Amino acid sequence: AVAVALDDGHGGALIIARVGEPLDEAELTLLRGMARALAQALQLLGAVEAERGLRQRSEQQARDNARLLGMHRERQRLLEALGTIQRSISHRAPLQDILRAIVGTTGELLHDPNADLMIGEPDDAVAGRAMAENRLVVVERAGAAMAAPVHEQGEVIGALLVTSDVPDRTYSRSEQGILLALAEHASLALTDAKTVGAMVHQALHDSLTGLPNRALFLDRLAHALARRGTGGGEVSVLFCDLDRFKTINDSLGHEAGDELLISVAQRVLGCLRGSDTAARLGGDEFVVLLEDVLSTGEAIAVADRIADAFRTPFSIVGREVYVSASIGIVRGHTAAEELLRNADVAMYRAKAEGSGRYAVFEPSMRAEVLERLELEADLRRAQERGELEVHYQPIVALVDGELAGFEALARWRHPRRGLVPPPAFIPVAEESDLIHDLGRFVLETACRQAAQWDARAITVNLSGRQLERADLVDQVAAALDDSGLEPNRLVLEITETVLMHDTEATIERLAALKRLGVRLAVDDFGTGYSSLRYLSRFPIDLLKMAKPFVDGVSTPQGAALARTIVDLGASLGLAIIAEGIEQGVQLAQLRRLGCQYGQGYLFARPLTIEKVGALHDSLLADSAAALYPMGV
Ligand code: C2E
Ligand code: CA
Ligand code: CA
Repeated sequence: AVAVALDDGHGGALIIARVGEPLDEAELTLLRGMARALAQALQLLGAVEAERGLRQRSEQQARDNARLLGMHRERQRLLEALGTIQRSISHRAPLQDILRAIVGTTGELLHDPNADLMIGEPDDAVAGRAMAENRLVVVERAGAAMAAPVHEQGEVIGALLVTSDVPDRTYSRSEQGILLALAEHASLALTDAKTVGAMVHQALHDSLTGLPNRALFLDRLAHALARRGTGGGEVSVLFCDLDRFKTINDSLGHEAGDELLISVAQRVLGCLRGSDTAARLGGDEFVVLLEDVLSTGEAIAVADRIADAFRTPFSIVGREVYVSASIGIVRGHTAAEELLRNADVAMYRAKAEGSGRYAVFEPSMRAEVLERLELEADLRRAQERGELEVHYQPIVALVDGELAGFEALARWRHPRRGLVPPPAFIPVAEESDLIHDLGRFVLETACRQAAQWDARAITVNLSGRQLERADLVDQVAAALDDSGLEPNRLVLEITETVLMHDTEATIERLAALKRLGVRLAVDDFGTGYSSLRYLSRFPIDLLKMAKPFVDGVSTPQGAALARTIVDLGASLGLAIIAEGIEQGVQLAQLRRLGCQYGQGYLFARPLTIEKVGALHDSLLADSAAALYPMGV
């Protein structure tokens, strides 16, 4: 509850109480304005009463009675006029109309035809003084005038002025009160209009970025469609969703997240023309309406521009942060809501293809999205239902076929779909944050099971998303502790693309992992930029040569490429594991090149834990015997 003293000489107050939200500053200003208007009206009444009392005690009863009657009428008219003005303010009549009515009433009640409301720089000395001194100013010499300040949200912004041509014009106390009361009402109307204007703006804009919100965007989209009529003219909508935003928010904090969203809004705007509308739907979702774009091709060009704008890192809380956006594109003339939904669906597809991509909407995508949503819901429950498993693919020493270790690979035994391979669910997990639980499960399971075997290594895949979290190091330490696995038997695989987007935080985290005594491998080496820069920056122990190099190794050019990788490893002191060896000729060639380790269907597929137990003596020994008949 808020009480505003009325200052009416009787200790009156205007009291307002509300359940729920407290009154905000704009509402308080409005309330104070109302209290002042009320006090002015009350004071005016008091003055009239006082004058009447005085007159009653005088001797010229008859004459006074006539005057009294006149005053009564005047008071009546004032109160009626104020009532009308108050009603039009509360009915939100157009501001100009209200102000015009106030000026008209002022002239009428004061019997002065020259009333004026001046806003801004006053070109009248009396009005200027009233504004500068923020009080009623009365001048009764030649050219009588009177001015009262007018406020907007408590600030003086103008004055209500009357001037008179009548010689010897004076202003009685009640006339002064009338002007003050009307000026207060003008203040009230102006403040209310401004507050309402701000509220309307607030209701239609995102407070963080200042961009239009969903409601305004849909409205603009609907208008754009209406302007095109039924002639089939089309508009384009781009739906942009940031990749990895949640991680950035989680790891750098909400303020950093907010700062990033503001910069993103600016970059997106920088890619658009004046006739385009960019809006923020909430979270990390932005949409763009392209009205004057003539084809899907042109819309794609805009999406490319946006993608380009994201290639420069963002500078957030003093750090460089790389963020990309997945963009869905739709072009059409269906209902606004539907266009937006379809753009969203296309964005979803773009995201599924990897980060920083765009996709153009096609009707068939809708079913895919539903399927994916269903998969995500199922995956959320998979762990507690015990549907997740870890399979192990042997890694062998190429020189003699000896079992050197295993790679842990996640598997999902879905009750309806059967055994779901990782490419079908790892991306879903990465997008929905499930990857953290899933990654921890694989890590703990692999460490626990590997600790039961002999001294061989176990390699575990880490998602880039896991690496972004500060608690990863503790998680690895706990997995080692709980399982009793010697740290140097654990190898963590990180893909090359993750290392390309390195940050100081990544480097520090990798160093912390190394301090635990574990080893690090670059997964899918050769598929990224294979830049030497990161190899020297990161404390790496092993390179996993990506399958395409193994596939090509039996051709002369392919062999040259593979050799480059092996030589690179040798010069940096890193051992190489060749991935996806399927044929004997590939094995032979890789051995010739001096590649130390390999894995692939040629030796063994990923195996269940039961098969790994049985493998130890039999399977691998057999396959080694078959593959290495000379017992090399
Ligand atoms: P990756 O890390 O490159 O793992 C090697 C993939 O190649 C495995 O696929 C493996 O089954 C397959 N592979 C092995 N030898 C051969 C071969 O001779 N021929 C062919 N065609 N394929 C071979 P998988 O198990 O389907 O895993 C696919 C990818 O999913 C993995 O690629 C890895 O990036 C990801 N992944 C698997 N498990 C996990 C996990 O626990 N965490 C994370 N973050 N990612 C995982
Ligand atoms: Ca791997
Ligand atoms: Ca790999």
